Amino acid sequence: MPKRTTNNISKQTCPQCQADRLQRQATGIWECKRCEATVAGGAFEADTGAKETIEKAIREGTEELEEIQEQVIDE
Ligand SMILES: [Zn+2]
Repeated sequence: MPKRTTNNISKQTCPQCQADRLQRQATGIWECKRCEATVAGGAFEADTGAKETIEKAIREGTEELEEIQEQVIDE
């Protein structure tokens, strides 16, 4: 049986208390109604398409940030 990670969870399950009580607060932001944890959508598949959009934004933003940091270090 393959080992599952939190990244493979397709249900709206809280990664902190495992409750099925997540409620969407905004795009990519979920709040657990049981333990009140706030979860970023990029951490798991809570909404179709949102995860890829967020991951793409984070990835591009990070690369851009690294380029800026390298330029600052060079000078
Ligand atoms: Zn919870």
